[in-house]
Amino acid sequence: MKTPAALFALALASVATLTAADPLKELSAASKAIPTTPSPRIKRVGIQPAPSVSPAPKPVATPAPYRPAVRRDGRRVVALDIGHTAAQQGAYSARGRGEFLFNKDIVEALSARLRDHPQIAPFIINPEGIPISLPMRTALAAKNGAELFLAIHHDSAQDKYFSAWEFEGKPQRFSDDFHGYGVFVSDKNRQPARSLVFGKLLGAEMAKAGFEFSPHHAEPVRGENRAIIDNDRGVYRYNDLIVLKTAPMPAALLECGVIANREEEARLRDPATHARIVESIVAAIERFFASEPAAPR
Ligand SMILES: [Zn+2]
Repeated sequence: MKTPAALFALALASVATLTAADPLKELSAASKAIPTTPSPRIKRVGIQPAPSVSPAPKPVATPAPYRPAVRRDGRRVVALDIGHTAAQQGAYSARGRGEFLFNKDIVEALSARLRDHPQIAPFIINPEGIPISLPMRTALAAKNGAELFLAIHHDSAQDKYFSAWEFEGKPQRFSDDFHGYGVFVSDKNRQPARSLVFGKLLGAEMAKAGFEFSPHHAEPVRGENRAIIDNDRGVYRYNDLIVLKTAPMPAALLECGVIANREEEARLRDPATHARIVESIVAAIERFFASEPAAPR
């Protein structure tokens, strides 16, 4: 287990590597070294036609192809992102438990399930839940050669759906209006088609396991308005989700269920539910790797 300081050093090193490898930055550094104004000692001869100048080609912002790790045991690395941090838990459940703890439960159960998997090698991005930026999460996934990125979250609802209640003598807020999971993918991911393939497989496996899709993020109000790409499988498009758009590998985010809902929260704390979610995710990853060729190595 790495210390937070070691994790930070690793994260910073990986960001430095990415920066140095940026072809546009190298191009602009190189262009600074070349003088662009002619030397004053060189005179132009007036009668000669000016050479035809074709406009300089615009730099194309094509990132270098991403190559996932090749492991000696042949297992393909899947980066598992525990949504939020220990200090900033994300949403709160109807009984006042932080979302980060729910996310951690699932990622730890998933990682344990995959420990001896013959094809899939799990990599937990930020196991201690220290404060790290969203782009650093995907930089760490890339640094560790992940072929797939999965962010685990638990869902809530808009403020207008909440009511007050008391649990164990403490005032809490709940919303029983919604329940169910949701899968998110981004068109701005570097591999959007493969991300969508994985998102649909994940949604299909969740539905097959008996979980229901919650379409509440499609409500046409500020803060929602998410387009549903696939209603049967429960897949939304959310282009500007930072982890999805900065991941160089296919990526999806799973909202496992709505912890603001009192009944659903109780279900989501049950290890039997964790196991059903974990098995759905494992089946989706297996189908994804079986159906998609490995990225160029
Ligand atoms: Zn979250």
